[in-house]
Amino acid sequence: MSEKRSEISQLGEFGLIDRISTKFNPQNPSSIKGIGDDAAVIETGGDCVLLSTDMLVEDIHFDLSYMPIQHLGYKAVAVNISDIAAMNGKPEQITVSLALSNRFSIEAIDALYEGIKAACENYKVDLVGGDTTSSVSGLIISITAVGRVKKEKIAYRSGAMTGDIICVTGDLGAAFIGLQVLEREKQVFLANPQMQPNIERYDYMVKRLLKPEARTDIVFELQELGVTPTSMIDVSDGLASELFHISKNSGTGVRIYEDKIPIDNRTYETAVEFGLDPITCALNGGEDYELLFTIPQADFEKIKNHQDIHSIGYVHEKKAENVLITKNGNVVHLKAQGWDHFN
Ligand code: ADP
Ligand code: MG
Repeated sequence: MSEKRSEISQLGEFGLIDRISTKFNPQNPSSIKGIGDDAAVIETGGDCVLLSTDMLVEDIHFDLSYMPIQHLGYKAVAVNISDIAAMNGKPEQITVSLALSNRFSIEAIDALYEGIKAACENYKVDLVGGDTTSSVSGLIISITAVGRVKKEKIAYRSGAMTGDIICVTGDLGAAFIGLQVLEREKQVFLANPQMQPNIERYDYMVKRLLKPEARTDIVFELQELGVTPTSMIDVSDGLASELFHISKNSGTGVRIYEDKIPIDNRTYETAVEFGLDPITCALNGGEDYELLFTIPQADFEKIKNHQDIHSIGYVHEKKAENVLITKNGNVVHLKAQGWDHFN
């Protein structure tokens, strides 16, 4: 070992993952897709198996002073199911691993598992194992999700083709605004514990943050409509960051239109109230867990009347030229921000 010490912040999260992935090449032909997508793809002879893991760490990913612990359980499952959905797969099993300190009571862990159970019932997945260990103080929850998909239906980040239409589900930016609301209320409460939080007006955004849903419904509906996305990713880090993943992995560029980005009115108004630009919140805020995907133009007719699928732009051949056309017709280059845990 050399004495040299380099900071992880120089690489960022994605740089670190790239660095790890260059050191490992799959040795088994059954490892069809390893590091680098929403889930790994494993060949089994019949359908392919999808495998995805996400870890949530107290005070990095959640704050129990405003996150009810049941919701944390639900969300920890939903974010993993979302990665299976993002491969166009059907989730079937999860494992749950916990690191706990004596700060947590049996009642708290019961509540955590109530949320996990509600998510298992909602997404029709089975909890089939996990691991439990102790931690010095905080709670760490790591979930692995297993899913299934037919090989020809897999939607990788790398399949976008020139001319494809870019679609996104639901609406964006709400979870980020929900976080701003809760952070503000927390500061108000810390300054004056007598103050009762007044967040009913913000219910929609707060719920989007605390209890997100994985869009397994969209995977099912696309199947019913006979549409297989050419590429797909879930929006966990913000629209801009996810567009960069698709563009980079597909060797293309993307062009999206500001006036097509779906933002709920409540999100829009609250962003303005907080002095934030709603479009920036949609582009760079995280944790919406909507699906971003591309489809061939020939499939547009099939989805164009779907209430919850919005076409926001198209894929073009100029590699890495990722632009936003503003309402005034200006061309703005997108920046891949996303969350950086190492700064
Ligand atoms: P997502 O946001 O969809 O959960 P991530 O950005 O966390 O995706 O991960 C991207 C890819 O990198 C995935 O294939 C994931 O399995 C892989 N990955 C992340 N962290 C590590 C790690 N520490 N070692 C190996 N692979 C990793
Ligand atoms: Mg993902």
